[in-house]
Amino acid sequence: MTADPVTHPDTAPASDALLARARSVIPGGVNSPVRAFRSVGGTPRFMERAQGPWLWDADGRRYLDLVCSWGPMILGHAHPEVRAAVTEAAAQGFSFGMPTAREVALAEEIVARVEPVEQVRLVSSGTEATMSAIRLARGFTGRSVVVKFAGCYHGHVDALLASAGSGVATFGLPDSPGVPASAAGETVVLPYNDVPALEAAFAERGSEIAAVITEAAAGNMGVVPPAPGFTEALRRLTRAHGALLVSDEVMTGFRCSASGWLGLEGVPEGGAPDLFTFGKVMGGGFPAAAFGGRADVMARLAPDGPVYQAGTLSGNPVASAAGLATLQRCTDEVYQRLDEVSEALAAAVTDAFSRHGIPHRIQWAGSMFSVFFREGQVTGYEDAKDQDTALFGRFFHAMLRRGVHLPPSCFESWFVSAAHDDEAVEHAVRAIGQSAAEIA
Ligand SMILES: *Cc1c(COP(=O)(O)O)cnc(C)c1O
Repeated sequence: MTADPVTHPDTAPASDALLARARSVIPGGVNSPVRAFRSVGGTPRFMERAQGPWLWDADGRRYLDLVCSWGPMILGHAHPEVRAAVTEAAAQGFSFGMPTAREVALAEEIVARVEPVEQVRLVSSGTEATMSAIRLARGFTGRSVVVKFAGCYHGHVDALLASAGSGVATFGLPDSPGVPASAAGETVVLPYNDVPALEAAFAERGSEIAAVITEAAAGNMGVVPPAPGFTEALRRLTRAHGALLVSDEVMTGFRCSASGWLGLEGVPEGGAPDLFTFGKVMGGGFPAAAFGGRADVMARLAPDGPVYQAGTLSGNPVASAAGLATLQRCTDEVYQRLDEVSEALAAAVTDAFSRHGIPHRIQWAGSMFSVFFREGQVTGYEDAKDQDTALFGRFFHAMLRRGVHLPPSCFESWFVSAAHDDEAVEHAVRAIGQSAAEIA
């Protein structure tokens, strides 16, 4: 038996002090709500530095990172070659307000990887990408209604902030104050993976629907992949009614495979989605995102077309350098390692939770997986909400004490990197076994 490596006390004095300072100038002390640990309790750890699979907090404590900045750090933190690309770009200036070769190279890399994407426009966040894709779909079709699915999160776009999973699920806000009824009123929210509901919506309002937006594989209510035939049904119905299909690959893009979820599931019968959105991995940890797809749809964007869209820092050269250097290193070996690491962690969860009688269900989208604290398949948001969130909170803190940083919500995927070496995996596996014993 190895000794129980409880290394970190529950109190974190340096993080406590920083949180107190932060709270006086930043609402809740954080710049994105899920970071505040509200659903698991305790003080969020303020991080100071990171290398490979490890993070160090302000108290100098080391954690194995299973969040990876919510996906982008697919090669691990501060990858030497990505760092070199960023340093080289920064040495030449930070932002010019004019086009650069670097953003062209990043756009080429995306277009080369995702076959149906003929053109992309670079933006600075996933939210901006989905917001712009929706505007473009509305401009292209001349219609206003957007269909989304409960539990799918597409960033904090007004029209899409209805039944949005993730941070919103964590906070139990069905809708946000500040989103006007008129913005949400053009949004139809349907249950995920429910083809009859989709057919009924199209039968009723088909001629008003500009687009259906879906997470290519849902990752913001925990991981819920599309059921066999669901993506095909989306394609068939949107096409039959003259609506566009927008596949949100902000999370899955370049993570589930070299060409995202599309690369795993394949192009649906009836054709590829019309538009895609990307973010997270393609920025390599910097603010870069994109939307793209069919050339005839993208041609409607300004300056060629009438649909306005812009950004002072869009295609930023330093962010583009980070994204390009990251994507260029996302090789088959990288995806193979992500699979190995994820499988080892999931096997450890299955083993330990089964041994201790803890209800659990693990679901996958490529190497993305999440652990639901319940039994039985999760096909949509109602299932996902039906789990033991309090037990997850205890597990989260048991892991944190053992130096493993999990996503601080049970509505999130776990993310690993190619820098998660055998030492990292062993550390996590040991912590999982001991944490399960502790909470049982
Ligand atoms: C993270 C995410 C977004 C929003 O991206 P931001 O960069 O946080 O604005 C949109 N869609 C999906 C599927 C995401 O996971």
